[in-house]
Amino acid sequence: MSASFSNQITAVAYCRTPYKQKFGIPRQPGLVDVHGYVELTGPFNDPDSVRGLEQYSHLWLLFCFHENLAQGWKTTVRPPRLGGNEKLGVFATRSTFRPNGIGQSVVKLHGIVRRGGKICLEISGMDLLDGTPIIDIKPYIPFSDAIPDAIGGMAQEAPVQYPVHFCSEAEAQVAKYGARPQSPNLRALIEGVLAQDPRPAYKKAKDDAKLYQVALYDLDIFWQIGPKGIEVLELRPGMLESGT
Ligand code: SAM
Repeated sequence: MSASFSNQITAVAYCRTPYKQKFGIPRQPGLVDVHGYVELTGPFNDPDSVRGLEQYSHLWLLFCFHENLAQGWKTTVRPPRLGGNEKLGVFATRSTFRPNGIGQSVVKLHGIVRRGGKICLEISGMDLLDGTPIIDIKPYIPFSDAIPDAIGGMAQEAPVQYPVHFCSEAEAQVAKYGARPQSPNLRALIEGVLAQDPRPAYKKAKDDAKLYQVALYDLDIFWQIGPKGIEVLELRPGMLESGT
């Protein structure tokens, strides 16, 4: 018999990030220098709830994989790291399809600011979709949380990064859209996201002429695999509002 708990878990904050869809979000934190905010909500939107947090350089965010909850979970999963060919137990992976749908990420804390009447933590390096509910925030404590000789199983090394090229039209568009206050560090963000090669593992194993799209800020970024590697073809205003 599995036990249930009477305490209800609620969002203490929502994450505001340039990532408007799951496809393209890095698979772990710290891989892309992306900036965003943790916006405190309800009774937690009180400066006292984060008093003293500015003494720390990094935070743990505990959050809900809210976009995947409806799909439930499975005992085994096929991690993209293993090319999607091998099954591992859900608890041996960072799968987003988990029994309680809880994720955790270490992010860098840049400061505590007010934005539109909300207390916000300015952060970078997150791997979270815009609007992700945050269920807890804790300071990262290096003496205990950092274990330099830890063994990382299938994920011992950081993933390989691929070269990213912008065609001349995309260069002009990135200069134009990157000059707007609502899409800061745009070029570096596109480069960082695409350098991870977000394609599913089965696509990487063969010739791939597909046109891909990722949504960053309020822009759709179109790209494909070309002779030089990952090629950015076009940036186009998308349907979504910029949340950061
Ligand atoms: N660092 C966290 C962990 O280990 O628990 C998350 C790792 S998980 C593999 C990262 C992926 O989660 C991202 O690439 C993105 O596709 C997905 N993701 C991020 N936010 C999400 C959300 N709110 N709902 C569902 N999936 C999300």
